[in-house]
Amino acid sequence: MQIIRNISMLRKRLAPLRGRKQRIGLVPTMGFLHEGHLSLVRKARRDCGIVVVSIFVNPTQFGPKEDLKKYPRNLKRDGALLKKEKVDFIFHPSVDEMYPEGSETTVSPGPMADCLCGAKRPGHFKGVLTVVAKFFNIVLPDTAYFGGKDYQQAVLIKRMVRDLNFDVKIKVCPLVRDSDGLALSSRNIYLSEAERKKALSIHDSLKWAKVEIKKGLRDVKKLTEGVKKILKPNVTKIDYVEIRDAESLATVKKINKKVVIAVAAYVGKTRLIDNKVL
Ligand code: AMP
Repeated sequence: MQIIRNISMLRKRLAPLRGRKQRIGLVPTMGFLHEGHLSLVRKARRDCGIVVVSIFVNPTQFGPKEDLKKYPRNLKRDGALLKKEKVDFIFHPSVDEMYPEGSETTVSPGPMADCLCGAKRPGHFKGVLTVVAKFFNIVLPDTAYFGGKDYQQAVLIKRMVRDLNFDVKIKVCPLVRDSDGLALSSRNIYLSEAERKKALSIHDSLKWAKVEIKKGLRDVKKLTEGVKKILKPNVTKIDYVEIRDAESLATVKKINKKVVIAVAAYVGKTRLIDNKVL
């Protein structure tokens, strides 16, 4: 496994490997890896001859009041985990390498970025799509792997690939949870023990909605109100609870096709997201 910080070096290493009947798989991450990330890496390892994992805390997807500075980082630990998974390359560029002075071109998402996290984090998905597009152009992967944990992000990336004709296949892997049900996230490290217990209400509320839908409840307003009722005594602030069309992210009133129930809430100062596709 090689750790490469430089774009031209990575291109030089990948060029002779390309096309020799081996697929190149890319797993973009911001590091501080957990089993959720590793599930993507393992899928890439099964599918591809060459696996590249990028570790880059992308400043352009953080808002001015968000946690860019304190976002957890531990390259040594990440390196050891990825070595165990037999990853070929870690791409770990500096901010200057990715955004040299004068960088000004960006990828602008369509209206699907105006709801859910996009509405609460202005500019977030512009930053995400721009950095992912750059990684696609740098690595030229056959397949790129993303997690269902960031549901809206995966929808927007698939749409970008379609709209801008990127020659890359997108695989979205299932959301991975801890044994107690909490969706794994690098940000869970911010939670105190008491906060972690409260954070479990997020998964509980989604499980409640799943059961109610199975029992026949189809009214979106009643379902979202029920989810909020479970969350309220536990979370500091609800950013959103929404049920939307799983493909178009359009609003729905009654459930009669595949939907995503998406939640974003603060527990203490930590913003957590979770979802279920039903
Ligand atoms: P991040 O490092 O948070 O930017 O995440 C990098 C990739 O890992 C994204 O595609 C995420 O959706 C995915 N990911 C993060 N957490 C999970 C999880 N709990 N289950 C599955 N995928 C995840």
